[in-house]
Amino acid sequence: MEQKPHIALLPSPGMGHLIPLVELAKLLLLHHDFHITCIIPVLGSPSKAMKAVLQALPTSIDHVFLPPVILEEEEIKGLKLEVQAMLTLTHSLPPLRDVLKPTRFSAFVVDPFGIDALDIAKELNISPYIFFPSNAFALSLVLHLPKLDETVSCEYRDLPEPIKLPGCIPIHGRDLLEPVQDRTSELYKMFLSNTKRYRLAEVGPIQSGSSNQVDKSESDCLRWLDNQPHGSVLFVCFGSGGTLSYEQTNELALGLELSGQKFIWVVRTPNNESADATYLSDQTLGNNPLAFLPKGFVERTKGQGLVVPFWAPQAQVLSHGSTGGFLTHCGWNSTLESIMQGIPLIVWPLFAEQKKNAALLAEDLKVALRPKTNKNGLIDREEIAKVVKGLMF
Ligand code: UDP
Repeated sequence: MEQKPHIALLPSPGMGHLIPLVELAKLLLLHHDFHITCIIPVLGSPSKAMKAVLQALPTSIDHVFLPPVILEEEEIKGLKLEVQAMLTLTHSLPPLRDVLKPTRFSAFVVDPFGIDALDIAKELNISPYIFFPSNAFALSLVLHLPKLDETVSCEYRDLPEPIKLPGCIPIHGRDLLEPVQDRTSELYKMFLSNTKRYRLAEVGPIQSGSSNQVDKSESDCLRWLDNQPHGSVLFVCFGSGGTLSYEQTNELALGLELSGQKFIWVVRTPNNESADATYLSDQTLGNNPLAFLPKGFVERTKGQGLVVPFWAPQAQVLSHGSTGGFLTHCGWNSTLESIMQGIPLIVWPLFAEQKKNAALLAEDLKVALRPKTNKNGLIDREEIAKVVKGLMF
C-alpha cells in the first residue's frame, strides 16, 4: 500500500509561533490526510500552555520535543526576543538533523525564524517550505526590505515621509517591525539576510481553534462570561508573553475600573525592563499572584470584572457572545481571532511587528481605537477609560 506523505513542521519557540503552525497541521490533516510530525525546539522547559496545546492535538498528529536549549542568563541578557528565538533554533539544528535524517519526510515546513533549518532539508532532499503566519502587509515589507535597504541610507524611523510598500497604506518607519528599527544591529542584519530567502512563503490567514479543549481554571472564566449580558465584556490580553511596567499596570487597572465597563483581564507580573518578559518562559506565580495590583482593586471591581492570572482560553473568550471588545497587543493570531468574530479592538502594541498591525487596524481597516500615550510615555487611566467607553458603548 502506498504510504501517506509525511510532513515535518518546525515552529519556532513561543506560543504565538506554535499556535498557527499547529492550526496548519490540523488543516493539512483535514484536507489531505497527511501524516504530520511537529518538531518542537524549546528554550528552557516547555511551558504549561505549550504542553496543553500539544496534548490536545488529534492522535494522528505526532509531536517530538528537541532537547531543551539552556542559555545562561548572561548569554541572553539584553538580547531581543527574536534573537533569543533564532539562537534557540541554531542550537537545535544538530538534534533536528538527527530527527529528520532517518525518516522519509516529503516536506519540511518552517516559520520565519526557522529559515536556517531549511539548509538541513536541502541537504536531506526534503522539499522546503516557509509558512508565513502574519499578514500580507508584513510579507510585503519582508519581500521589499532588500530594496529598501539599498535605496534608503538613514534609519527608516528618521524618514520624514511614510514608506509606500506595494499593496499597503503608507506607513511611518517608526511603526515598522522591531527588527528593522536599528539598522546597525545584529538583529537587523540577520533579518535582512533571511528576507532574501523568502520565495517559498505561503500566507495565512489561519485562525486558531476556538474549539480547543480548556482546563478547569480556564472554564471558570467561560462560566463567568456565561452570566454576563450579550456583547458587554471587554477582553484585555497582551498575547502569550506581553508585559507592562508596574506603573502602566497600575494605570490600566484604574482605567478599567474608571470606565465602569465589564472586563476580563489576563494579568502578568509587571516588568519594568521588557515588554515581552514572558514570551519564551512561563511566569512563576507565587502565593499571591495579584499582589502588584492597586490596593482593593480586585474587591472593588468584583461583579464588574474578572482578573485571570497569566493565561485564559482566548479563542473561546473571543467567540463567546458576551464578549464585545478586545484590548490587544496586536499579535497577528490575536488580531485574526477577533476579526473573524467581528470583535472591535483597542490596539496597544508592545513589540515585534505589533505597531504595524496597530496602524493597519486603526488607520486602514478602521476596526480599532488607539489610545494616546502622555508626555511620560504612559497611557493614563483617563485615556484608558475614555477609549474603553468609546469602544463598548
Ligand atoms: N493566548 C491564549 N491565552 C492567553 C494569551 C494568549 O490562548 O492568555 C493565545 C492567543 O489566543 C493567540 C496566541 O496565544 O492564539 C498569541 O499569539 P499572538 O500572535 O496574538 O501574540 P504573541 O503571543 O505571538 O505575541
